[in-house]
Order: sequence, then C-alpha cells, then structure tokens
Amino acid sequence: MSQDNEKYDAIVIGGGIAGQESALNLADSDQKVLLVEKDLSFGGKMIHLSKVFPTLDCSACITTPKMSETARHPNITICTYSEFTEIEKLPDGTFTGILTRHPRYVIEKDCTGCQDCEEVCPSVVEDQYQYGMVGRKAAYVPFSIANPRIAAIDIENCILCGACERACPADAIDFTQKTEKTRVNAGSVIVATGFRLFDPAVIRKYGLGKYKNVVTSMQMERQLVPTRPFNNVLRPKDAKVPDNIAYVLCVGSRDLTIGSPVCSQVCCMYSVKQGQLLMGALPMADVTVYYLHVRAFGKGFEEFYQQSRGMGVKYVKGKVGTIEEKENGDLILRYEDIRDGSVKEETHDLVVLSVGMLPNPEAGSLFAGNALELDEFGYVRQVDMLKNPASTSIEGVFVAGTASGPMDIPDSIASSGAAAAEALSYLKRKR
Ligand SMILES: Cc1cc2nc3c(=O)[nH]c(=O)nc-3n(C[C@H](O)[C@H](O)[C@H](O)COP(=O)(O)OP(=O)(O)OC[C@H]3O[C@@H](n4cnc5c(N)ncnc54)[C@H](O)[C@@H]3O)c2cc1C
Ligand code: SF4
Ligand code: SF4
Repeated sequence: MSQDNEKYDAIVIGGGIAGQESALNLADSDQKVLLVEKDLSFGGKMIHLSKVFPTLDCSACITTPKMSETARHPNITICTYSEFTEIEKLPDGTFTGILTRHPRYVIEKDCTGCQDCEEVCPSVVEDQYQYGMVGRKAAYVPFSIANPRIAAIDIENCILCGACERACPADAIDFTQKTEKTRVNAGSVIVATGFRLFDPAVIRKYGLGKYKNVVTSMQMERQLVPTRPFNNVLRPKDAKVPDNIAYVLCVGSRDLTIGSPVCSQVCCMYSVKQGQLLMGALPMADVTVYYLHVRAFGKGFEEFYQQSRGMGVKYVKGKVGTIEEKENGDLILRYEDIRDGSVKEETHDLVVLSVGMLPNPEAGSLFAGNALELDEFGYVRQVDMLKNPASTSIEGVFVAGTASGPMDIPDSIASSGAAAAEALSYLKRKR
C-alpha cells in the first residue's frame, strides 16, 4: 500500500447523476472532493438512457455536459475503476479508508481512445453497456460517450495474444499494471452508490433468457438511444422490426412473492416514455401496456401519460401470468383482465419487461464492520427521513440519490443537493 495519505474534504462514492451533483455542489463551495467510481466510466445509469420523462429531453445531452463539468472542476479528483472500502470514523470526526485502483492495463495519460487496439483484438464477449445485445472486444473503450474515453483490457477474456500492444500507436498498453491501494482521509463521506436493476430471469414464467424476444426495459432503452446497437428497433431472435409490442409493468416491484415489496417509482413513467418513443420510431407498430396501476404521480406525469394514450398506446389493466413462445418467435401473453376477472390471451411479437429497482448491497459493506445501517428493504437507512433525509446512521456520512430508495432523476438531483449541504454544514461544524 502507498505510504502517502491522500486528504480531501469529502469523498463521494458513486459517479452517477447523484454522485456528480453532490461532488459539484461541494466543489463549488471550495471543498476538495474525491469522486470514486467503480466502473470504467462515471455517469451511472443516466448516461445510458434515451430520453427522459416527462419532457423527452435527450438524456446524454443533459448528462455529458455535467460529466465534463465534473471532470474539469479544479476541486474534484475522479478515480474511475476504483473502490473505497474499510471506511472508519476517527475520534476527531473525520474518516479514513482504503482506495483501491484496479488496473486497466492501459496507461491512462497516454491512451488517446483511438480504438486501434479494439479493432485488432480477436476476443469477443457480450457488451455489458449494450446489455448483452451485441458483442465487444476484450480490448475496448467502454462506450462512445464514456468519460474518461480511454481503453481498458478485460483481462478475464484476454487471450494474451499481444495484438493490441503491437497496434497501439501510443504504446499505452501495459500488462504489468497492478492493483494499487492508498489510504485516504476525508472530513465527510457521501454514499451515492445507486441501485441495481432487477433480474427478471428469476421470474421464470416470463421466459427472459429462454425466449429471445422477451427483453428488459433497459435493453429497449438502449435500442432507442442515438448510440444504439442496431440502426432500428429489432427483435433479437430474427432481427425482425417488431410491429406489436407489449410492456409488462411492475416486474420485480410491488411483488411479495419475490421479496420485493417496494414500488420502483420510475417503471410506469419510463414505460410511458418508451411507448411514445416507439410510436415515433415505428409509426406502424402497436404498443400495449399491461399494468396494475399507472402511478403518474409527479408534475407533468399525468399529462405525459394521457399524451401517450392520445398517440395510440393501448393500456390494459391486466396481470400477466405466463408468457409462451410460438414457433415463429411471437409470444402469447396469458393475463387476468382485472376489470372482469376473466383470463385472456394476446399475441405480441416482442415483450418488454419493465424491470424495477433493487438496492445496491455494496453500500452496506463500504464501512468497516458493516457500520453503515441499511433499512428493512436493503437501502441506506435514512435516520431522520422527514426532517433530514440525507443523514445516515453515522454522523458525517450522508446519502444521495437512489442509494436511499427508488427515485427518478429530478428527485436524485434534489437529494444530492441536500446531501452536499448537510456535508458542508458538518465540515464547518467540525473545523
Ligand atoms: C430503464 C430505465 C429508464 C429510466 N428512465 C428515466 C427517465 O426517463 N427519467 C428519470 O427521471 N429517471 C429515469 N430512470 C431512473 C434513473 O436511472 C435514476 O433515477 C438515476 O439513474 C439515479 O441515479 P443515481 O446516481 O442515484 O444511481 P446510478 O445511476 O445507479 O449511479 C450509481 C453509480 O455508482 C457507482 N457505484 C455503485 N457501487 C459503487 C461502489 N461500491 N463504489 C464506487 N462506485 C459505485 C455505479 O457504477 C454508478 O455509476 C430510469 C431507470 C431505468 C432503469
Ligand atoms: S492481448 Fe488480449 S486484449 Fe490484447 S488483442 Fe489480444 S486478446 Fe485482445
Ligand atoms: S490503448 Fe492505444 S490503441 Fe487502444 S485506444 Fe488507447 S491509444 Fe488507441
């Protein structure tokens, strides 16, 4: 471990929209901030979204300037592909922990992001940033609007052929890189570790993984962005342009049978959004949403929902029981029509499962002895939810965004402002 202790006023863990907003608020108040992101790029889920409800603004157009502002801020140091763990509170109220920087096997300062390594690499695996719909190489720039936009070697899938080393014009490939550990001290900590997506493969009756034309809403989101994997919306089994698409809401939310009682808050509205985007992308297609309730609770949400109905999206109040595949890849949905209790069947050529949010369990293991308390749902516990929603079970540690529970982007940003203000006031009190 490096002997030099790095010192910051605050450490923000997680570089999604919540982490960036918290870091910027603190940095604008002259605090030195370390932003720690475990992925190769910061940006969180938002950088991978198409447009945002209810305004249909382009998500990347909002996120990329914020990412640049974060990356260029003189008071913010960003460590990507890194983790901050074993955090402990010291008697003087400050914090100490271990920063682990994982090796990219690429010299960050030398890589230009030219992707020559990617071109020659023979090893192909599923692209996690396109949610498995296409492949990527073992030498790869994570995605086109990544920040930093530099390559990494996926050593697990590398066959050590050396082609990338020979092709790199900047001599940036370095297979001798090792994991680096540094002790870091800070006056305050903000936990912005975000959420996990529910994996609908566990609900076997919906057939994800078994029937190729059953996809998740995140896969559909990727098909609707400008940096999409294909030039059109396609169904995976035979690359047919779908013309009769079904959405199943509440997959992994409000479902006690799988131990997930919480409403994910965003699935109704992102499905309403995707329905509208599909109407634009495929004007001849039918879109049907199977729902139990449509929770259009926010400002402008009800109007957005009514707008989608006006555009021709069909809403069926029905509980989907099973999905089965026909020989031609079409899917038969068997559902209970809630209005009259009857069981009905309908055929669609693509089914989108609107997956919910789950807590990111990593938040609980950031602190030595798992000292940061989680609530009964597994999110970071807000000890004073009504009066001070950013405060946690440890004084001086604050929570921002979906690390404390499901919320949309505006609410994540608002909660990050609160976390930064609380952290600032804690730092001032302790000085
Ligand atoms: C399909 C879909 C569509 C959506 N559409 C919309 C929409 O149109 N409008 C809207 O308002 N909301 C939408 N949302 C919700 C939106 O994605 C969230 O509100 C937002 O991403 C929350 O941001 P966050 O920063 O809290 O979490 P995240 O985006 O999850 O970011 C968390 C970050 O922390 C990092 N991290 C995690 N653990 C660690 C660790 N241990 N150490 C370091 N880093 C860590 C992660 O890699 C990630 O970068 C949608 C969600 C989904 C699933
Ligand atoms: S050494 Fe590994 S990463 Fe480089 S080209 Fe060969 S397989 Fe790809
Ligand atoms: S590692 Fe080399 S070849 Fe690959 S993107 Fe960076 S500069 Fe280009």
